[in-house]
Amino acid sequence: MARAWLLSLALTLGACASAPLSSPWDEAVPLRYNILYTQDPTPRLNVEVFLPRKFPREFLFRQPGRVESLFVTDEVGTRFDVFPKNGVVQVPEGTRFIRYHYPLTTSSQGGGGRHLFGGMGEGDTWHVAGKAYLLTPSRVTADLRVDVTASGADVLLPWTPGDNGVYHLRGEDLIDAGFHSFGGRRCEAHVGASVMEVALLGRFTHLTDADLCAWLEQAGREVVTVRKSFPYPRITVRVLPVPGDATPGVFGMTLWSAPPSISILVGQDATAASFAKDWVAVHEMLHLTHPALVPREAWLTEGLATYYTELARARSGRQTARQAWRELTNGFARGQAASGSRTMKEVVAEERNYMGIYWTGALFALHLDVELRRVTEGRARLEDVLELLATRGPTATLASFGDAVDTVAGQPLFGALLARHLPKPAFSELAPLLENLGVRIDPGGVTLHAAPGSGWREALDGERTPDDAG
Ligand SMILES: [Zn+2]
Repeated sequence: MARAWLLSLALTLGACASAPLSSPWDEAVPLRYNILYTQDPTPRLNVEVFLPRKFPREFLFRQPGRVESLFVTDEVGTRFDVFPKNGVVQVPEGTRFIRYHYPLTTSSQGGGGRHLFGGMGEGDTWHVAGKAYLLTPSRVTADLRVDVTASGADVLLPWTPGDNGVYHLRGEDLIDAGFHSFGGRRCEAHVGASVMEVALLGRFTHLTDADLCAWLEQAGREVVTVRKSFPYPRITVRVLPVPGDATPGVFGMTLWSAPPSISILVGQDATAASFAKDWVAVHEMLHLTHPALVPREAWLTEGLATYYTELARARSGRQTARQAWRELTNGFARGQAASGSRTMKEVVAEERNYMGIYWTGALFALHLDVELRRVTEGRARLEDVLELLATRGPTATLASFGDAVDTVAGQPLFGALLARHLPKPAFSELAPLLENLGVRIDPGGVTLHAAPGSGWREALDGERTPDDAG
């Protein structure tokens, strides 16, 4: 996540809830969702859910609030009204069919929508998180199959539909359902053999659709200064305008659907030239380079993305090495100011201390990268850990992340380095690390000079020829 002005969003990365349970229902029949976008009488999603026989009766809105009642039909055609309680929906025995509508706009918003998760947009162009409107079984098993159709507008969901337009999903796709959009214009960005399918959800004063897609493509190319190739064959990105704002990247978020889905808010009055200095798009795409941490370890994932945001922009030539180190040291200073004398352990537990969490994580990523290079005499680096983790699946734990570090290092490293950072005031390791790397903070900015570790520093912000940038 980048730039957290939407405090109500909280950090929602990496939810995962599957439980082993043998299915009492007919597994040959998938749970089926038909989603229809309509503007009649107001922008809404009409959702129909068809249940297999003997399907469990408890369902859940994982982000409750907007659906007040549902219509349920049982196998002999009797109809009932059902009302959610704190998001929980209990349907009667024998229910085969559930129907509800989800309002994309609330009456207090007067026709427009301003909630990135609940519904953001206007006219016939809408953005919504799957978790806001999808009624899901309260327990999702590994073998649950789900079919989804979506119609009524040009729909962009995280997944690729089958030949017949039906999305064939697993139960867990309902839980981590990512971002969805209805309507808008489309463009595609390509990085090597990978494609980003982009939905442009509104009007921009100066930017053409081609400008926006070129910007995302540039961010994608910067990802392959970190990973050997773009991490997914296909991802989806949604771009929304922010009226009255000229900031290129205002806010971005990546959700761990499979594959991940990205949404970015862009100032409606931004210019193409301003994209040269944007960091939000590359930051979000750099989240594709690491696995989802379960349970969530925001300091580590945000630390990695924040650290590489500066290195990647230097490696691509978008900023000089000196500018990258100025951005890093400015960020460390902001993180330190937000952390006071509290330990790293305390800071990373502070749910809303974004500055402290992001930048203490970025400092740890820098230190880890330097240590990996030092102990292997330059043969390995932090990117190798990301490559190794990518072969081990879409999620990791803190322990399995540490194990990958130690494997790449050829010796125990992660646990000891973390134990060195956690109990001390956050950023205690900063000054000696910068001195060793030959980074000096002067009144006029940052200067780079020869030091015992300046060779490592030069290796961090330069090098790596992408294998498949294109
Ligand atoms: Zn982030």
